[in-house]
Amino acid sequence: MAELDDHAAKLDEYHAKRDFGSTPEPAGRVVTDKDRPLRFLVQRHRARRLHYDLRLEIGGVLASWAVPKGPGLDPKRKSLAVKVEDHPFAYGWFEGNIPSGYGKGDVIVWDDGWWEPDPAYPHSKDLARAVDSGELKFVLHGKKLHGRYVILRTAGDQWLLIKKNDDDAVPGWDPEEHPASVLSARTNADVVAGTPGRWAAPTETELRELDEMGAKGRWTVAGETTLLTNLDKVIMPGRDGDPAITKREIVRYYAQVAPWLTPYLAGRPVNLNRFPDGIGGAKGGFWHKAVPAHAPAFVRRWPNPLADIDKTREYLMVDGAPSLVWAANFAGIEIHPWTSTAASPEQPSYALIDIDPGPATTWAETLVLAQMFRVAMTQLDLVARPKVTGQRGIQVWIPIRSGYTFDDTSRFVEALSKTIGRVVPELVSWQWRKSDRKGLARLDYTQNAINKTLVAPYSIRPAPGAPVSVPLEWDELDDPDLRPDRWTIREVLGRLASVGDPFGALVGQEQSLPAL
Ligand code: MN
Repeated sequence: MAELDDHAAKLDEYHAKRDFGSTPEPAGRVVTDKDRPLRFLVQRHRARRLHYDLRLEIGGVLASWAVPKGPGLDPKRKSLAVKVEDHPFAYGWFEGNIPSGYGKGDVIVWDDGWWEPDPAYPHSKDLARAVDSGELKFVLHGKKLHGRYVILRTAGDQWLLIKKNDDDAVPGWDPEEHPASVLSARTNADVVAGTPGRWAAPTETELRELDEMGAKGRWTVAGETTLLTNLDKVIMPGRDGDPAITKREIVRYYAQVAPWLTPYLAGRPVNLNRFPDGIGGAKGGFWHKAVPAHAPAFVRRWPNPLADIDKTREYLMVDGAPSLVWAANFAGIEIHPWTSTAASPEQPSYALIDIDPGPATTWAETLVLAQMFRVAMTQLDLVARPKVTGQRGIQVWIPIRSGYTFDDTSRFVEALSKTIGRVVPELVSWQWRKSDRKGLARLDYTQNAINKTLVAPYSIRPAPGAPVSVPLEWDELDDPDLRPDRWTIREVLGRLASVGDPFGALVGQEQSLPAL
């Protein structure tokens, strides 16, 4: 017990400074996972004064320094660093607005990666003791920051952070010239405005390189190179006699749709439904959560501090076209992000309505149910949008503010769904077992849970023709040509170019769930 109490005490100062009823920052906890490299993160925080928070994982928490001029690669800069309280591990992935109180301002994750004590020097196994002694020599392996550093206490809480003059040093390098988040591509100003980051799409030249490549080759998109294999393998048949869909076409689609898809994946762990032998293959599809050791270094990994709830340790975190290209080559055909972010895995950012038709449910009946939710959203004054699943169903996504639990969203969607089910009892079954539902539809509020995921907007579904889950404007429910699998990977990019993304209306909406 004493050890547990010590652990909890590490975050006492952090907890004492914050009111978790009014800040979106995570309460977090001490983590105990030791079988992986230590993580570091740097956040750019525009508080009363701009600073960068350097955070090194030590002893299950993030030892933290506020660095007003920022860490960098220039060996001539000696940056003042003020030691601040240890932060919980999850905090490192936090981006958002702190509306009031301690740290009021806006935060992005400016860099992340792993770190180690500098192997060129002897060091204590007890890294916390090294910090207490006032000097730590270390090596960073990040997206922006690389190489050897030293941080030294000069007086009290005042330290100096120095980049060593090694092969990674870049004289004159200025952190302010590299302002975007490594997780979401957002700047601090984007976070304040509630706008998504801007992600690169492949250029015409890059697309031509993919088209002209043999069955195997190296492809560079948005600055990262992936080894592509088996590009001509058929993953699914075409629809209605159209040509079959190869892995090359799937890789191409995910690279092109990356600017639209990534906003719904960034900062969240992602599960892949893989079909290495195609959708008709002997193995069928299977869920893959852990990032394999052979994945390239640019693939962002999130170490799950809740690994006792869900055994997977290091999840994929998609941050743009290169990681989507890697996932597609890995035969990750279908993409399911978590409903919560890595910073607050126990707090959903959407309430999800899942209209799951039974075998006897017609498309017209599915639309009746969707229209009823549309009326409910209007009456409750909630901004929400439907999407077709690419298979048979329709989902409605309701963006919510931080602070809700999965119990809250599940109870809200259950109450709403039961209200609608009472109006049309002939369409809806509440039986748990499929065989007891008499073919009726299910309004599946149980998808609002930490370990449940729904298919991402613009993800491919494993069916002939490669249909896609596509967001809709509410008015499109009235279109007589609408079908749940209307758009395939061959039509989605054209639709996006002409009508844009209806889910764009959901970004930045911080809604409270009304009482029902
Ligand atoms: Mn700060």
